[in-house]
Amino acid sequence: MSRRRVIAGVLKALQGRYPTTMLGGWSAGGAGPFRHLIGTILSARSRDEMTERVCDRLFRRYPTPERLAAARSRDVERILHDIGFYRTKTRYVIDSARRVVGLGRVPDTLEELMEFPGVGRKVANCVLVYAFGKEAIPVDTHVHRLANRIGWVRTRTPEETERALSEIIARRHWPIVNEVLVAHGKAVCRPIGPKCGECAIRRECARGAKC
Ligand code: SF4
Repeated sequence: MSRRRVIAGVLKALQGRYPTTMLGGWSAGGAGPFRHLIGTILSARSRDEMTERVCDRLFRRYPTPERLAAARSRDVERILHDIGFYRTKTRYVIDSARRVVGLGRVPDTLEELMEFPGVGRKVANCVLVYAFGKEAIPVDTHVHRLANRIGWVRTRTPEETERALSEIIARRHWPIVNEVLVAHGKAVCRPIGPKCGECAIRRECARGAKC
């Protein structure tokens, strides 16, 4: 069986275990692109539950880009206070809101998104996938770690991993890569003490095959 098919099978098996709840939000009346953009900026080095809570609070107070663009820093800082780097993130979200107001939309290309403050490749790719339903592979530390551990790639940086994965995974599967690998990395394939004995993809994993 070709490598592409094996990887596709692994992704499907993981999707069966970890339903991809973030996909389709853009078309199902879920959070709009602006909220995805701001939520992803806030999520850097912050736990998901905390990010969600703070993001809810922020959008209750400033429901539109215009309102957030006009917000005072100290009021936003008070809302973001519970997450890491809240001062920097306050600057990022207000500046991002101003850019969106200026452009009249949230951009839907990697290049444009990466011009936003606080937006690197991973955040930009998340916005493309989860806000616009585009084919992209957001690579964070979990995805980078798992892709190397399973043996799909041998790379040193998330950027190299993104490039390598895009060559060995069919485009139609790109949107699920981040969500299923992040979920598996948290639940089973933990950084320290991966639970190989109860791993559903053990036979397809370079490390699991040796356990
Ligand atoms: S077999 Fe072990 S190392 Fe491989 S994916 Fe599963 S938990 Fe991770």
